[in-house]
Amino acid sequence: MPFEFSFTPDQEAFRDAVRAFLAKEVAPIVPAMDESEEFPRATVRRMQEEGYFGVPVPEEYGGLGLGKVGYCLFLEELGKVDASHGTIVGAHTSLGITPLLYYGTEEQKQRWLVPAARGEKLLAFSLTEPGSGSDSGAVHTVAEKDGDEWVITGNKIYVSNGREADTIVLMAGNDVKLGPNGGVTAFLIDSNLPGFRVGRCEKKMGLHGTSTAELVLDHVRVGPDRVLGEVGKGFHVAMTALDVGRVSLGAASLGGMQAATHQALEFSKNRTQFGLPISEYEAIQFKLADMAMRVHALRLMVYHAAAHQDRMGTVPKQWSRLERVEKTREAAIVKCLASEWASEVIDEALQIHGGLGYIRGTPIERAYRDARISEIFEGTNEIQRLVVARDLLTRGL
Ligand SMILES: Cc1cc2nc3c(=O)[nH]c(=O)nc-3n(C[C@H](O)[C@H](O)[C@H](O)COP(=O)(O)OP(=O)(O)OC[C@H]3O[C@@H](n4cnc5c(N)ncnc54)[C@H](O)[C@@H]3O)c2cc1C
Repeated sequence: MPFEFSFTPDQEAFRDAVRAFLAKEVAPIVPAMDESEEFPRATVRRMQEEGYFGVPVPEEYGGLGLGKVGYCLFLEELGKVDASHGTIVGAHTSLGITPLLYYGTEEQKQRWLVPAARGEKLLAFSLTEPGSGSDSGAVHTVAEKDGDEWVITGNKIYVSNGREADTIVLMAGNDVKLGPNGGVTAFLIDSNLPGFRVGRCEKKMGLHGTSTAELVLDHVRVGPDRVLGEVGKGFHVAMTALDVGRVSLGAASLGGMQAATHQALEFSKNRTQFGLPISEYEAIQFKLADMAMRVHALRLMVYHAAAHQDRMGTVPKQWSRLERVEKTREAAIVKCLASEWASEVIDEALQIHGGLGYIRGTPIERAYRDARISEIFEGTNEIQRLVVARDLLTRGL
């Protein structure tokens, strides 16, 4: 894998435009959104109008055509401002759009991908069930064949955007006995289909602007036009989406870490104790140095992985086995380190703020609550370590 990498002038111009947009239109509403725990409809609408819900999608399919590198630039900026908005975009783009872009037929792309990339429709991704979390191939939602059609019944949980999504990329078992090896199929489920309803929405520690919903499917009947990818290959569809999601989650974490480091740095220069700004004390300087080191290392890792995914393209059938496993290992490494470093950096930034960091409503207090989930969703970090360890044992370092 080549290591050289730099942003083009167009990518830098895009990042600057995003930064200005987010500062003006999103940052001001975040504290109220966190308090009210309401989905930020107005800012999501504005971001959709700007094309920000289709950043990596080629222009021919209604997107901005900026690839994974452009998408990570966007999520890095968004991560500096708010993790809830980042999660809404990530659930839609990494997890909803990727399956359509990589596995959709031309007809499915025109029908579902184009409106999603243009920001006219919102997507979600549904793999998790009450009995199937880390063991995500053990799907219990059943898809039974009835003539040409499928009849889907089951309960899904913890679906980001689940309450608001127009369409959900949903994994169901075409043969539950087979599990991930031939037994799981990806379906495109519109939220207005008969038999589909949104169940309980969770109250959460953080990410207060996002919905985390239960989905109930009671004999939802769909035609073969809603099968995404091949029957029985839904687990591959899900894992491909998660590889993209794990790198983009790294970009959002990178943004969150930078914001926290910046806030801690400024606070330390302005807070005087024992007659000196606390930034003069080595104990604080070492914390800040460690934070900056992690930001630097993660930036290299995220854009290396994003550029790698861009080079691989969006046609899974063209990938060799080696390319697949390298991509998956790299995504797991980025996700695991990014989420743990983000938690640690934000924790240290909170410590530098002293008691103020613990006060409800400060940006660092919100960031602390928002960051924790990244060690859990899109595959827990225990599972990321299993992915890396299995590949190590098979291929070595
Ligand atoms: C806010 C939020 C948003 C989410 N959004 C989505 C979404 O949009 N779509 C979706 O499908 N899912 C979503 N999820 C679900 C999320 O991906 C799962 O919660 C996660 O994968 C873990 O599954 P689990 O909660 O069932 O934990 P479990 O799998 O029960 O794990 C419990 C603990 O056991 C550990 N563990 C399990 N197996 C092993 C093993 N073999 N070796 C070592 N340790 C192990 C885990 O790492 C964890 O620490 C979301 C969850 C939350 C909280």
